[in-house]
Amino acid sequence: MEFEAWWLILFPLCFGLGWLAARVDIRHILSDSKLLPRQYFEGLNHLLNDRTDKAVEVFVDLARNHDETIELQFALGHLFRRKGEIERAIRMHQKLLERPELRQFERQSAQFELASDFMKAGLFDRAEELFAKLDDTEFARAARRHLLDIYQQEKEWHKAIETAQQLRDTSHTYQHEIAEFHCELAVTAMTRSQPAEARQYLQQALAEHRKCVRANLLLGELAAGQGDHAGAIEAWLRIESQDHRFLPFAARQLLDAYDKLGRADEGTALLKGFMTSYPELDMLDVVLERIAATENADVAFDWLREQLRRNPNMPGLIKLLEAQAQAAPPERRAEIDTMLRLTQEATRGLSMYHCSSCGFKARQYFWRCPACNDWECFLPARGQTRA
Ligand SMILES: [Zn+2]
Repeated sequence: MEFEAWWLILFPLCFGLGWLAARVDIRHILSDSKLLPRQYFEGLNHLLNDRTDKAVEVFVDLARNHDETIELQFALGHLFRRKGEIERAIRMHQKLLERPELRQFERQSAQFELASDFMKAGLFDRAEELFAKLDDTEFARAARRHLLDIYQQEKEWHKAIETAQQLRDTSHTYQHEIAEFHCELAVTAMTRSQPAEARQYLQQALAEHRKCVRANLLLGELAAGQGDHAGAIEAWLRIESQDHRFLPFAARQLLDAYDKLGRADEGTALLKGFMTSYPELDMLDVVLERIAATENADVAFDWLREQLRRNPNMPGLIKLLEAQAQAAPPERRAEIDTMLRLTQEATRGLSMYHCSSCGFKARQYFWRCPACNDWECFLPARGQTRA
């Protein structure tokens, strides 16, 4: 082999490459670039399989080695909050906010997340302050929704009304909610013996939502409380054209108002008439008690049998068995009591009000479900499970 001069250039080149290789570990670069996606996918896989703890472990490890990854810190903060580790979520988002290189959108996003952490921790004041700061940003609408939740939990109804008005659009008018907020204000005014303010709030509720049954129920109570029984009757009777299923809510008070006006028979006839027009109404007890008190047990019993013929239903059957048990000779009493007990056991759910949104059951009627926080979602008849 013959020596050529240009080979000489190979020696410094090889030296240079060796020097570079010593300083830059190519394999390390390659493994590093692969590490991020692999651990990302590993974490993601845990998440998809509901193994949140494992996912957090992987992501915390990843964040430790790649503290420049802002998105990862967001994801971790979110995960901590979902797991209920609110303090860790708060720390993560506060650390994010301290980073000077954050772009405006990222900074606002971190503020939104931190406010959500505070809200979950029950620190409403701090959450409110941060959400309010996002008013003119892309997060304004989402922040307002959270603010609306805060104001409802804190019973700050004026602020809730203002926020719901800002949120209303064609997809959600918030008219049910705003009317209910006015009703809540009216209830507070009534407990403070401020009837004029209460009436004003109730009129605002009806102006917002003319089908707001609760407003008429409360207007009736307000009038009756001031001795205006005719006015009370007028308010309660308006419920029939709003949603007749709520008439039983005013049944006892209606009878009482007619009694106070010396028109007891008119009250009884009115309720009997309602039961004829709307046999499904949940006020059998009230009318039955009334007939038994003003006439006698036999007349009440006949009326009940007539109702059951027209509209067979379990609550009616229980009432009939109760009446039969009382009137039965001693030798038949035990038999009827057994039938009554078995029927009551089999129909226990019929004595409860049901939430049509989440299925929560309660003996008491709620205008706002204590389980899912929806307004006007409880069905107005006990035992009814669908509208
Ligand atoms: Zn519910």
